[in-house]
Amino acid sequence: MGHLIPIIELGKRMVSHHEFHVTIFFVASDHASITSLLKSPTPHNLDIVALPFVDISGLIEPNTHLVTKLLVIMRESLPSLRSLIAAMKIRPTALIVDLFGADAFEIAQEFGMLKYVFVTTNAWFLAVIFHSSSLDKQVILEGHVKGQKPLKIPGCKSLFFKDTLESLHDIDSVDESEFIGTKMTKSNGILINTWQDLESSTIEALRDNNYLGGLIKVPIYPIGPLVRQEGKQVLDKQVKQWLDKQPIESVIYVSFGSGGTLSAKQMTEFAWGLEQSQRKFIWVVRPPSNNALGSYFTIGKTDGDGTPDYLPQGFFTRTKDIGLVIPMWAPQAQILSHPSVGGFLSHCGWNSTLESITNGVPMIAWPLYAEQKMNAAMLTEDFEIAVRPKVSTTEEIVGRGEIEGMVRMMMADKEGLAMKNIVKELKQNAEKALDKGGSSYNSLSQVAQDCLHHLQV
Ligand code: UDP
Repeated sequence: MGHLIPIIELGKRMVSHHEFHVTIFFVASDHASITSLLKSPTPHNLDIVALPFVDISGLIEPNTHLVTKLLVIMRESLPSLRSLIAAMKIRPTALIVDLFGADAFEIAQEFGMLKYVFVTTNAWFLAVIFHSSSLDKQVILEGHVKGQKPLKIPGCKSLFFKDTLESLHDIDSVDESEFIGTKMTKSNGILINTWQDLESSTIEALRDNNYLGGLIKVPIYPIGPLVRQEGKQVLDKQVKQWLDKQPIESVIYVSFGSGGTLSAKQMTEFAWGLEQSQRKFIWVVRPPSNNALGSYFTIGKTDGDGTPDYLPQGFFTRTKDIGLVIPMWAPQAQILSHPSVGGFLSHCGWNSTLESITNGVPMIAWPLYAEQKMNAAMLTEDFEIAVRPKVSTTEEIVGRGEIEGMVRMMMADKEGLAMKNIVKELKQNAEKALDKGGSSYNSLSQVAQDCLHHLQV
């Protein structure tokens, strides 16, 4: 979802601002959230096409890293992509692939199309991928992972081990990062979901012709923030009514992304901390799991007031006047845009981060997997629009007192107010970047012009 949502937004923008006809191919899945996403209205000239489901169970070991799995799925989908493109009445001018889809460049080559990558996250992430692909992987594993030394990324913020990219822990994934990095350098350009002012020095570093010994010769196009745009009418009636009754900026919204989960112990501490804060909340709840990435909802057993058995007994009754619990999936972009919401406790997925910024909502950063710790570091240290909980080193969980304190601080203290002011400025800055003549608007216009030029030669 974190990739598909901004890809659809990019498609919409290319149709509405630059008069493209766009076809989005995605690998079929019956995940409920994808089904609901695909039901949202799309403009004329934007087609969304599911590639047939591919069964990769016979091709990989069950415990293969997620990055490798994604690359294998994308590779196995190439034959159907090729035949769909071959059958198109008008041959497309350009192929824009996701980070994991660069193998499809061979198809673009075959059909004489331009090749772009859309990296749905930020410039710092891109710099880390390039930097790690330029290093000997033993250097990363020995120095960064085992020695826990920061990776010094030329021209950018260093990557401290505590915030490191999950995939750098694993030798196979380091290989995959190298593969992705190398493929990207063979494109006609790299689009990133960020904007010039937000990450100016990192973007400048990436654009320097001598960066990493001249590794990246391709143009970098910051075209964001592309976030899900939908009217408030999508908000469920009960959620809307509840939010409408709350004072302005009084509610903290809690969600761990499209698949994030907490451990059972952490979940209990979390629930107590939230309750003790006595601040208004909306919490998107999923059953606990020891694997932070991904669980699919079963509410499980409940007690008398409907509280699921993985939350403290009686939680629903005690919090009925202050909170709303939504199982599994909520219309996040709509909730964050409601004036009653004044804080977001988030797993720091990049889409969630952008949705928070574009709605002027400060964050409590609770990263779980992938590049989320990097995002959390950037939000707290560089942008100063988030706080990050202290983890108890003995138990490796965040205690209820810490959670209570952070929520209170975010929703009431001077520190929370200061973050609110900064994030509201960023919101305006983001709007400026996307407006006609703004940096992101111009970046995408440049891509459009290159396509037009390609069409004419
Ligand atoms: N999302 C949502 N409702 C939920 C959970 C997630 O609408 O209950 C959306 C969220 O608004 C965001 C995307 O799913 O657009 C999640 O992307 P993100 O990059 O934040 O994290 P990921 O889930 O990919 O780790």
